[in-house]
Amino acid sequence: MIRFEHGRARGRADACLAHRPASCQTEHTGNTIRRAGMSITGQCHCGAIRYTAEGADEHHALCHCADCRRWSGAPMVGWIAFREEQVTITGTATVYSSSEHGRRAFCRDCGTGLFYRNAVVLPGIVDIQSGTLDSPQDRAPAAQIMCREKLPWLAEVETLPAFDTYPGVD
Ligand SMILES: [Zn+2]
Ligand SMILES: [Zn+2]
Repeated sequence: MIRFEHGRARGRADACLAHRPASCQTEHTGNTIRRAGMSITGQCHCGAIRYTAEGADEHHALCHCADCRRWSGAPMVGWIAFREEQVTITGTATVYSSSEHGRRAFCRDCGTGLFYRNAVVLPGIVDIQSGTLDSPQDRAPAAQIMCREKLPWLAEVETLPAFDTYPGVD
């Protein structure tokens, strides 16, 4: 079974699921979702790094952990996971050690975050930021994880005034 995990920032205790209370592990590991699918492609913003993943993903989840939030600069991050042998990457991503075993890879030219690996907690798995897919609209996430760190106002987002572009434009 694949476990969701996103580690903790450098300098803090490594908070991989293996070190979390059993009750929390159960909460976050009971959501393993496997879905069949076609190959997917994606890239960083500038296009220096591209990837293809073949076959079904291991899981696709929105992560609300504070590490993903700060690293990405976004309120939440979508992660779609594949086995390493399913993924082909062109271009060279820069790797940042975000925890003892967590490794986050990004494009040093444009700053886009792309991949997460953890050889201890998620051996053989590459988690891809699903916001970098060429067709992210085709792959809906199947779970939310690390909801204990979720921003409380996210639940109200659908009630906010909404504009096709910007206020006063559309
Ligand atoms: Zn780039
Ligand atoms: Zn996370």
